[in-house]
Amino acid sequence: MSIEVTLLGTGSPLPNPDRAGPSTLVRAGDATLLVDCGRGVVMRLAGVGVLPVALSAVLLTHLHSDHITDLNDVITTQWVMTTAESPLRIFGPPGTQQVVDAVLHMLTLDQQYRLDHHADLDYRPAVDVTEVGPRDTFDVGGAQITVHETDHRPVTPTVGYRIEHDGAAAALAGDTVPCTGLDELCANTDIYVQAVIRADLVKLIPNQRLQDILDYHSSVEQAAQTAARAGVKKLVFTHYVPPLMPGQEDEWRAQAAAHFDGEIVVADDLTTVTAD
Ligand SMILES: [Zn+2]
Ligand SMILES: [Zn+2]
Repeated sequence: MSIEVTLLGTGSPLPNPDRAGPSTLVRAGDATLLVDCGRGVVMRLAGVGVLPVALSAVLLTHLHSDHITDLNDVITTQWVMTTAESPLRIFGPPGTQQVVDAVLHMLTLDQQYRLDHHADLDYRPAVDVTEVGPRDTFDVGGAQITVHETDHRPVTPTVGYRIEHDGAAAALAGDTVPCTGLDELCANTDIYVQAVIRADLVKLIPNQRLQDILDYHSSVEQAAQTAARAGVKKLVFTHYVPPLMPGQEDEWRAQAAAHFDGEIVVADDLTTVTAD
Protein backbone atom coordinates (compact mmCIF):
# COMPACT_ATOMS: atom_id res chain seq x y z
CA MET A 1 0.00 0.00 0.00
CA SER A 2 1.29 3.43 -0.81
CA ILE A 3 -0.51 5.43 1.88
CA GLU A 4 -1.83 4.21 5.21
CA VAL A 5 -3.82 6.51 7.50
CA THR A 6 -4.38 5.62 11.17
CA LEU A 7 -6.77 7.69 13.26
CA LEU A 8 -4.96 8.06 16.58
CA GLY A 9 -7.52 10.27 18.26
CA THR A 10 -11.07 10.80 17.03
CA GLY A 11 -12.28 12.97 19.90
CA SER A 12 -12.83 16.69 20.23
CA PRO A 13 -12.36 19.16 23.11
CA LEU A 14 -15.26 17.36 24.87
CA PRO A 15 -13.67 14.77 27.21
CA ASN A 16 -14.47 11.18 26.29
CA PRO A 17 -12.87 8.07 27.82
CA ASP A 18 -12.72 6.21 24.50
CA ARG A 19 -11.56 8.94 22.15
CA ALA A 20 -8.23 10.67 22.40
CA GLY A 21 -7.87 14.20 21.07
CA PRO A 22 -7.48 14.95 17.36
CA SER A 23 -4.39 13.37 15.82
CA THR A 24 -3.77 11.19 12.79
CA LEU A 25 -0.80 9.14 11.65
CA VAL A 26 0.01 8.96 7.93
CA ARG A 27 2.55 6.48 6.63
CA ALA A 28 3.63 6.98 3.04
CA GLY A 29 6.81 5.52 1.62
CA ASP A 30 9.55 6.20 4.14
CA ALA A 31 7.56 8.99 5.76
CA THR A 32 5.86 8.65 9.15
CA LEU A 33 3.82 11.79 9.59
CA LEU A 34 1.86 12.90 12.64
CA VAL A 35 -0.96 15.32 11.85
CA ASP A 36 -1.94 17.28 14.98
CA CYS A 37 -1.14 16.38 18.58
CA GLY A 38 -4.35 16.13 20.58
CA ARG A 39 -4.92 14.73 24.05
CA GLY A 40 -3.28 11.32 24.51
CA VAL A 41 -1.40 11.27 21.23
CA VAL A 42 1.75 9.58 22.55
CA MET A 43 -0.32 6.79 24.14
CA ARG A 44 -2.15 6.19 20.88
CA LEU A 45 1.14 6.23 18.92
CA ALA A 46 2.36 3.51 21.29
CA GLY A 47 -0.81 1.61 20.44
CA VAL A 48 0.44 1.20 16.87
CA GLY A 49 4.06 0.69 17.88
CA VAL A 50 5.30 4.11 16.84
CA LEU A 51 7.52 6.12 19.17
CA PRO A 52 7.98 9.85 18.72
CA VAL A 53 11.62 9.22 17.71
CA ALA A 54 10.26 7.41 14.64
CA LEU A 55 8.34 10.42 13.36
CA SER A 56 9.59 11.99 10.15
CA ALA A 57 7.63 15.18 10.83
CA VAL A 58 4.70 16.68 12.71
CA LEU A 59 2.15 18.62 10.64
CA LEU A 60 -0.17 21.01 12.47
CA THR A 61 -3.44 22.08 10.85
CA HIS A 62 -4.06 24.94 13.29
CA LEU A 63 -3.23 26.08 16.77
CA HIS A 64 -6.47 25.40 18.63
CA SER A 65 -5.61 23.75 21.94
CA ASP A 66 -7.36 20.45 21.18
CA HIS A 67 -4.95 19.95 18.24
CA ILE A 68 -1.72 20.86 20.03
CA THR A 69 -2.28 20.10 23.69
CA ASP A 70 0.12 17.12 23.76
CA LEU A 71 2.76 18.61 21.48
CA ASN A 72 4.81 19.02 24.66
CA ASP A 73 4.69 15.25 25.22
CA VAL A 74 5.75 14.54 21.62
CA ILE A 75 8.69 16.96 21.93
CA THR A 76 9.86 15.70 25.33
CA THR A 77 9.43 11.99 24.60
CA GLN A 78 11.26 12.38 21.28
CA TRP A 79 14.09 14.26 23.01
CA VAL A 80 14.64 11.83 25.91
CA MET A 81 14.68 8.82 23.55
CA THR A 82 17.20 10.24 21.09
CA THR A 83 20.80 9.13 21.35
CA ALA A 84 22.12 12.06 19.36
CA GLU A 85 20.74 15.50 18.65
CA SER A 86 18.18 14.97 15.90
CA PRO A 87 15.68 17.76 15.34
CA LEU A 88 11.96 17.04 15.37
CA ARG A 89 10.57 18.67 12.25
CA ILE A 90 7.30 20.55 12.76
CA PHE A 91 5.32 22.17 9.97
CA GLY A 92 2.38 24.42 10.74
CA PRO A 93 0.68 27.72 9.94
CA PRO A 94 2.13 31.07 11.03
CA GLY A 95 2.12 31.15 14.82
CA THR A 96 3.62 27.66 15.09
CA GLN A 97 7.07 28.99 16.03
CA GLN A 98 5.51 31.06 18.80
CA VAL A 99 3.69 28.02 20.18
CA VAL A 100 6.78 25.81 20.00
CA ASP A 101 8.94 28.46 21.67
CA ALA A 102 6.39 28.72 24.47
CA VAL A 103 6.22 24.94 24.89
CA LEU A 104 10.01 24.74 25.09
CA HIS A 105 10.01 27.58 27.60
CA MET A 106 7.41 25.77 29.71
CA LEU A 107 9.70 22.74 29.75
CA THR A 108 12.89 24.63 30.71
CA LEU A 109 12.99 23.31 34.29
CA ASP A 110 12.26 19.75 33.18
CA GLN A 111 15.06 19.97 30.61
CA GLN A 112 17.51 21.14 33.25
CA TYR A 113 16.52 18.31 35.63
CA ARG A 114 17.25 15.76 32.90
CA LEU A 115 20.44 17.42 31.67
CA ASP A 116 21.75 17.47 35.25
CA HIS A 117 20.77 13.85 35.89
CA HIS A 118 21.87 12.11 32.67
CA ALA A 119 25.56 12.50 31.90
CA ASP A 120 25.08 11.26 28.33
CA LEU A 121 22.32 13.76 27.59
CA ASP A 122 24.06 17.02 26.78
CA TYR A 123 21.69 18.78 24.43
CA ARG A 124 18.27 20.34 24.81
CA PRO A 125 15.27 19.34 22.63
CA ALA A 126 15.97 20.21 19.03
CA VAL A 127 12.92 21.34 17.12
CA ASP A 128 12.98 22.55 13.53
CA VAL A 129 9.86 24.61 12.77
CA THR A 130 8.74 25.53 9.26
CA GLU A 131 5.75 27.84 9.01
CA VAL A 132 3.75 27.09 5.86
CA GLY A 133 1.03 28.72 3.82
CA PRO A 134 -1.32 27.84 0.98
CA ARG A 135 0.28 26.13 -2.04
CA ASP A 136 3.58 25.50 -0.27
CA THR A 137 4.96 22.11 -1.19
CA PHE A 138 7.62 20.02 0.47
CA ASP A 139 8.93 16.49 0.49
CA VAL A 140 9.31 14.27 3.55
CA GLY A 141 10.72 10.78 3.12
CA GLY A 142 9.55 10.56 -0.47
CA ALA A 143 6.02 11.78 0.26
CA GLN A 144 4.96 14.97 -1.48
CA ILE A 145 3.00 17.32 0.74
CA THR A 146 0.97 20.30 -0.45
CA VAL A 147 -0.56 22.87 1.87
CA HIS A 148 -4.08 24.17 1.23
CA GLU A 149 -6.00 26.96 2.91
CA THR A 150 -9.03 25.90 4.95
CA ASP A 151 -11.81 27.98 6.51
CA HIS A 152 -12.18 27.72 10.30
CA ARG A 153 -12.83 31.41 10.85
CA PRO A 154 -12.57 33.24 13.16
CA VAL A 155 -9.57 30.98 13.74
CA THR A 156 -6.96 31.91 11.17
CA PRO A 157 -4.70 30.88 9.56
CA THR A 158 -5.68 27.23 9.23
CA VAL A 159 -4.41 24.70 6.70
CA GLY A 160 -4.95 21.17 5.45
CA TYR A 161 -2.33 18.82 4.07
CA ARG A 162 -2.49 16.81 0.87
CA ILE A 163 -0.06 13.93 1.12
CA GLU A 164 0.84 12.04 -2.07
CA HIS A 165 2.97 9.00 -2.66
CA ASP A 166 3.29 6.49 -5.47
CA GLY A 167 0.10 7.59 -7.21
CA ALA A 168 -2.05 7.70 -4.06
CA ALA A 169 -3.27 10.78 -2.22
CA ALA A 170 -4.74 11.54 1.20
CA ALA A 171 -6.32 14.78 2.38
CA LEU A 172 -6.00 15.74 6.04
CA ALA A 173 -8.44 18.58 6.39
CA GLY A 174 -8.60 19.41 10.09
CA ASP A 175 -11.37 21.72 11.28
CA THR A 176 -13.00 23.57 8.38
CA VAL A 177 -16.23 24.38 6.65
CA PRO A 178 -16.53 23.71 2.91
CA CYS A 179 -14.45 26.15 0.84
CA THR A 180 -12.45 26.36 -2.37
CA GLY A 181 -9.21 25.45 -0.62
CA LEU A 182 -10.84 22.35 0.85
CA ASP A 183 -12.09 21.27 -2.58
CA GLU A 184 -8.54 21.63 -3.97
CA LEU A 185 -7.13 19.74 -1.00
CA CYS A 186 -9.51 16.83 -1.55
CA ALA A 187 -9.63 16.69 -5.36
CA ASN A 188 -9.54 13.06 -6.51
CA THR A 189 -7.94 11.82 -3.29
CA ASP A 190 -8.13 8.19 -2.18
CA ILE A 191 -8.69 9.18 1.46
CA TYR A 192 -10.26 12.34 2.90
CA VAL A 193 -10.18 12.72 6.68
CA GLN A 194 -12.62 15.33 7.98
CA ALA A 195 -13.54 16.65 11.43
CA VAL A 196 -17.32 16.52 11.58
CA ILE A 197 -20.17 17.65 13.76
CA ARG A 198 -23.78 16.54 13.79
CA ALA A 199 -25.39 19.93 13.27
CA ASP A 200 -28.86 18.45 13.83
CA LEU A 201 -27.86 17.18 17.30
CA VAL A 202 -25.76 20.18 18.32
CA LYS A 203 -28.71 22.48 17.58
CA LEU A 204 -30.72 20.62 20.22
CA ILE A 205 -28.21 21.32 22.99
CA PRO A 206 -29.19 24.39 25.03
CA ASN A 207 -25.67 25.67 25.47
CA GLN A 208 -24.50 28.79 23.64
CA ARG A 209 -20.84 27.73 23.64
CA LEU A 210 -21.79 24.62 21.67
CA GLN A 211 -24.05 26.60 19.35
CA ASP A 212 -21.02 28.76 18.54
CA ILE A 213 -19.17 25.80 16.96
CA LEU A 214 -21.82 25.33 14.27
CA ASP A 215 -20.38 28.06 12.05
CA TYR A 216 -16.80 26.78 11.78
CA HIS A 217 -17.03 22.99 11.43
CA SER A 218 -18.26 20.80 8.58
CA SER A 219 -21.48 18.97 9.32
CA VAL A 220 -21.71 15.32 8.29
CA GLU A 221 -23.75 16.37 5.24
CA GLN A 222 -21.25 19.06 4.25
CA ALA A 223 -18.33 16.64 4.52
CA ALA A 224 -20.19 14.18 2.31
CA GLN A 225 -21.00 16.90 -0.22
CA THR A 226 -17.33 17.96 -0.30
CA ALA A 227 -16.30 14.33 -0.85
CA ALA A 228 -18.77 13.92 -3.70
CA ARG A 229 -17.82 17.20 -5.36
CA ALA A 230 -14.09 16.42 -5.11
CA GLY A 231 -14.33 12.85 -6.40
CA VAL A 232 -12.98 11.30 -3.18
CA LYS A 233 -12.85 7.50 -2.83
CA LYS A 234 -12.99 7.10 0.97
CA LEU A 235 -14.46 9.63 3.38
CA VAL A 236 -13.20 9.22 6.95
CA PHE A 237 -14.88 10.89 9.92
CA THR A 238 -13.09 12.08 13.06
CA HIS A 239 -13.37 14.79 15.77
CA TYR A 240 -17.02 13.93 16.50
CA VAL A 241 -19.23 16.55 18.14
CA PRO A 242 -21.19 15.43 20.03
CA PRO A 243 -19.01 12.39 20.81
CA LEU A 244 -20.03 9.39 18.69
CA MET A 245 -21.39 6.72 21.01
CA PRO A 246 -21.29 2.98 20.26
CA GLY A 247 -24.30 1.94 18.19
CA GLN A 248 -24.72 5.32 16.49
CA GLU A 249 -22.33 4.61 13.62
CA ASP A 250 -25.02 3.64 11.10
CA GLU A 251 -26.95 6.83 11.75
CA TRP A 252 -23.88 9.00 11.08
CA ARG A 253 -23.02 6.91 8.00
CA ALA A 254 -26.56 7.14 6.61
CA GLN A 255 -26.55 10.93 6.85
CA ALA A 256 -23.41 11.01 4.71
CA ALA A 257 -24.56 8.30 2.31
CA ALA A 258 -27.46 10.52 1.23
CA HIS A 259 -24.88 12.80 -0.41
CA PHE A 260 -21.87 10.57 -1.21
CA ASP A 261 -21.80 7.09 -2.73
CA GLY A 262 -18.15 6.26 -2.02
CA GLU A 263 -16.86 4.41 1.03
CA ILE A 264 -17.64 6.07 4.39
CA VAL A 265 -15.47 5.18 7.37
CA VAL A 266 -16.87 6.11 10.79
CA ALA A 267 -13.53 5.83 12.52
CA ASP A 268 -12.65 4.97 16.10
CA ASP A 269 -9.25 5.50 17.67
CA LEU A 270 -6.69 3.26 15.90
CA THR A 271 -8.89 2.64 12.84
CA THR A 272 -6.58 2.28 9.83
CA VAL A 273 -7.54 3.11 6.25
CA THR A 274 -5.36 2.37 3.26
CA ALA A 275 -5.34 3.73 -0.27
CA ASP A 276 -6.13 0.77 -2.51
ZN1 LIG B 1 -10.29 24.04 15.68
ZN1 LIG C 1 -10.73 20.86 16.84
